[in-house]
Amino acid sequence: MTQPVMSEARRYQQLRAHLGYLKLDAAADALPKVLDAVRTEQLSLTAALERLLDVEVTATEARKLTSRLRFACLPEPWTITDFDFAAQPGVDEKLIRDLATLRFLDDAANVLFVGPPGVGKTMLSIGLARAAAEAGHRVYFTTAADLAARCHKAAIEGRWNTCMRFFAGPRLLVIDELGYLPLPEDGASALFQVINQRYLKSSTILSTNVGIADWASVFGDATVAAAMLDRLLHRATVVGIDGPSYRLRAHANHASTLRQAVASRA
Ligand code: ADP
Ligand code: MG
Repeated sequence: MTQPVMSEARRYQQLRAHLGYLKLDAAADALPKVLDAVRTEQLSLTAALERLLDVEVTATEARKLTSRLRFACLPEPWTITDFDFAAQPGVDEKLIRDLATLRFLDDAANVLFVGPPGVGKTMLSIGLARAAAEAGHRVYFTTAADLAARCHKAAIEGRWNTCMRFFAGPRLLVIDELGYLPLPEDGASALFQVINQRYLKSSTILSTNVGIADWASVFGDATVAAAMLDRLLHRATVVGIDGPSYRLRAHANHASTLRQAVASRA
């Protein structure tokens, strides 16, 4: 028995309304195309439903990624593939590729980037953070100075516990630029508490221009520095980068061109 045309049209409207009510907007938009495909490609019912829901799942994933990236506060859009390994012989490419598999997150292991300014510490941290966000993990990027300032403010406003919970939350926390600015006393203890409460639970990437042997000066206290390193390094990959500064590379090239020009004229 054939269904009357009107009833089929009404059923279509009803289906769209259902999708709208369930907020499956991408599927609602894709419905006409999928129904066309049912006719032109002779899709089975299962195939049609799968295609329709696939559109919705893809749209939801994209929306969630956007929101994770917004939360993460990554200061640059860099990815690991943007990193020029040939330009930085100080970095072990194999090691970075291994970190980029994000296995360290499963072990709640940490990553420490140690090296002078301009060698790519921030770029690699952001690249790993982005990969983690794309893989579905909650990520947050901050600098040591910002973290200290934020904890200080929270303490004054009676929100210390909320602040600590915030920094305990992300599956991956990036703390950039430790040692660039001296930490105030309560900053050192805030950083210690953040590291301590994440210890063995979730991963932290920390980058610093200060060699581990000199951390006492960053914290103004050898005991805090030792306790901090104890937790950080227990399960950690330390990436020491002692190659040339990428920032200064352009200047260096320029300077050497100038030198050659001058030399050839002499
Ligand atoms: P650091 O944090 O060690 O001071 P950054 O990661 O901020 O250094 O790098 C400084 C600048 O140089 C950034 O603009 C970064 O994109 C660029 N850079 C550094 N290393 C590389 C590299 N190996 N390939 C491409 N760009 C690089
Ligand atoms: Mg940096």
